[in-house]
Amino acid sequence: MVTLHGKNFEPFISPQQLDAAIDAVATKVAARYGDSVPLFLGVLNGSYFFASELIKRLAIPCEISFVKVASYHGTVSSGTVRELIGVQERIAGRHVVVLEDIVDTGNTITHVVEALREKSPASIAIASMLLKPDVYKKDLPVDFVAMEIPNVFVVGSGLDHDGLGRNLPGIYRINGH
Ligand code: 5GP
Repeated sequence: MVTLHGKNFEPFISPQQLDAAIDAVATKVAARYGDSVPLFLGVLNGSYFFASELIKRLAIPCEISFVKVASYHGTVSSGTVRELIGVQERIAGRHVVVLEDIVDTGNTITHVVEALREKSPASIAIASMLLKPDVYKKDLPVDFVAMEIPNVFVVGSGLDHDGLGRNLPGIYRINGH
């Protein structure tokens, strides 16, 4: 058990389970993209862990960069998203794979995908470390998901609670919810 800002979190997904799930995503991503040199765009801050873990498993030629959308406060998703910032690369004609730490309501990822679509990519896909299928009701497909989880607030492996917990190995869930 760990305590972050007075809230207790208990181990939920072990680092080994997460590793195995990311292995499986990497295999699927490699098979889908082959030699087409996809551009991975990690959504900061939380995706840095998943981005790094996924990329190191890929032997295919690829590029990686990061964008930012600040959108989340406390333990419930606010549903408000800000502007997508940091897109430096040429997107037109590229196969883009957006990397997320977690898809909850899908508001964030929808905003990111809509902003990127305006830049005419050859294709756009979403890969998320975690997905809450009980919450996610958008039509937009989440193409690659390492693990599906119930509607609980989690931290670890890049995910934070008001800035803390990103460094925890594996995934921890909040106690009592
Ligand atoms: P959405 O826009 O899909 O509702 O939420 C996406 C963002 O909210 C994620 O990128 C993440 O920053 C945050 N988020 C959603 N659920 C959780 C959660 O269970 N734990 C943490 N730490 N962040 C979450």
